[in-house]
Amino acid sequence: MTTPRTDQLRMLPQVEETLRAPELRALEAIMERSVLADCAREATDELRQRLLAGERTCADADEAACTVVEGAVARALACLRPSLRRVVNATGVVVHTNLGRSPLPEAAVQAVADVARGYSTLEYDVASMARGSRHDHVERLVCALTGAEAAIAVNNNAAAVMMVLSEFAREREAVVSRGELVEIGGSFRIPDIMELSGALMREVGTTNRTRAADYERALAPGTSMLLKVHPSNYRVVGFAEDVGVPELRRIADEENARRGAARGGRDSVLVYEDQGSGTLLRLGFLGSSAEPTVAESLRSGCDLVSFSGDKLLGGPQAGIVVGSSELVGRLKRNPLARAMRLDKMAIAALEATLRLYLDPEGALRSIPVLRMLSEPAEAVRERAELLARTLREAVPEGCARIEVVPETARAGGGALPLCDIETHAVRVGFERGCAQSCEEFLVRRREVPVVARISKQAVLFDARTLSHDDLFEVAAAVRAYFEEAGTAGKAGA
Ligand SMILES: *Cc1c(COP(=O)(O)O)cnc(C)c1O
Repeated sequence: MTTPRTDQLRMLPQVEETLRAPELRALEAIMERSVLADCAREATDELRQRLLAGERTCADADEAACTVVEGAVARALACLRPSLRRVVNATGVVVHTNLGRSPLPEAAVQAVADVARGYSTLEYDVASMARGSRHDHVERLVCALTGAEAAIAVNNNAAAVMMVLSEFAREREAVVSRGELVEIGGSFRIPDIMELSGALMREVGTTNRTRAADYERALAPGTSMLLKVHPSNYRVVGFAEDVGVPELRRIADEENARRGAARGGRDSVLVYEDQGSGTLLRLGFLGSSAEPTVAESLRSGCDLVSFSGDKLLGGPQAGIVVGSSELVGRLKRNPLARAMRLDKMAIAALEATLRLYLDPEGALRSIPVLRMLSEPAEAVRERAELLARTLREAVPEGCARIEVVPETARAGGGALPLCDIETHAVRVGFERGCAQSCEEFLVRRREVPVVARISKQAVLFDARTLSHDDLFEVAAAVRAYFEEAGTAGKAGA
C-alpha cells in the first residue's frame, strides 16, 4: 500500500544524478568526488526525512532534485569554510572557555608563528650543541617568577593534576576536604580524576566546614599527600571554614617528624595545591577578590602547586607544576609527562607570555586578559559610548533604541566567581526585528560571528571584552541585521 508520503519518496534523485548537476561538477575541480558524493547522500537523506515527517512536499522530481543539489552544495561549501574561526566576544566574560579562553599577547602570537613556520631549538641546546630538553624553555622563567626550584609544563592543568596524583599518590591516600571535591566543568571532577590516577581519595570534613583536626585524624601510614583544591567556580559563603596552606604545612611537618621523613622526600606527606587559575601577580585591582599568587602558595608551605596557562595567566593552554627539583624531577621522568607534553607552538606561546611577566607593570598592558580585567570602568564606558555612536550612525532610523548601560562583567574560566567587575555595555532595544533573531543572525550569518548577551528583549554588547577594532565589526553586523529585517518586514515574526 502506498501513502502520499511514500509516493513523494519516489521523487528523490539518485546520488549519481545529483553529482551530474553543473554546480557540483564545478566543485569537483577543488574537492574530491567522494566527499561531494557524501554531501549529496546527506542532502538526499535530509529531504527524505522531511518528506517522511510531512514537513515538506515536492511538486515533482525536478523540485526534489533542485532541493537536493542546493543542500549538497551548502554542505560542500561548509567543508571549505574553517570550523574553528575568530569570533567577537561581546559577552563581558574575559576568560570565556567556550570562546577559547585567553586571547594571546601579540608577542606570543609572533613567537608561535616563528617556530611553527620552520625548525626550532625545541630539543636542541645551542650552548652545548647537543640534545636539549623541551622543558628548559619555560622552566627558568617559571622559577624566576614563582621562586620555585623547578617547574614542568604539560598540556593543561587537568593533565598536571592527574600527573601529580599518579606520581605521588598512586595506591596511596590523598586527603582532601569535602568542600573541595569540585567539578570544574567539561567533565573535570576531582573525585573522578583521583580515581583515574590510581590515588585513593580520603575525604575529610563537610561541604561547608573542614578543620585542621579533620586532616590530622585522617593521617595513616599510607597517607602520601594533603591535597588542596581551589574551588574555582563556586564559593561556600556563610557558615564556612577551610584549612589554609600554612596549617596543612604544620600537619604534614608533624607527621613527617613522626615518620622520620625529610620534607619532600620519599615516604613524606606532601602538601599539594591545585590552584586552578593561578596567578603570578597580586591582582590588586580586583580588591578583596585577589587570590594568593603561586609564589605565595609556595612560601606558605606547599611542596607542589599546579595552575593553568590559559586562565588568569593569559597564555596558551597549558598546566604548570612548580616545586622542588627532586619532586619535579620525578614528574619529568613519569611517562605521563611524555604523553601529556606540550608541542612547540604552546611552548613558544607560553615562554613569550611568561617573559612579559618580568615587567609586571607592562604585563598589565601587554597581556590581553590582564588588560581587560584591569581596565578602569571609565575607559570601558568611553569605548561603549563610541560603539553606541557608531551604531546610531550605522542603523537605519526607527529600527532600534541604542543606549549605554552600566553592567557587571565576570572574569570567567572558573576564576574569581564572586568578583563583580564594573563594566559598560551598549543596549540595543528593538523597534524592528527582535533580540532573538538578531542574536541568531549575529552568530550564524556572519563570517566573524559576534557573541553577545540577551537581557529583557534587548541585546547587550559589553565593551570590556571588545577591542577598538571589534566595535566596527559589531556595528557592521548589527547594520546588516537591520538591513535584512528592513527588507523582510518584521524579522523574527
Ligand atoms: C580550571 C581548573 C582545572 C583544569 O585546568 P585546565 O587548564 O582547564 O585543564 C583544574 N583544577 C582547577 C581548580 C581549575 O580551576
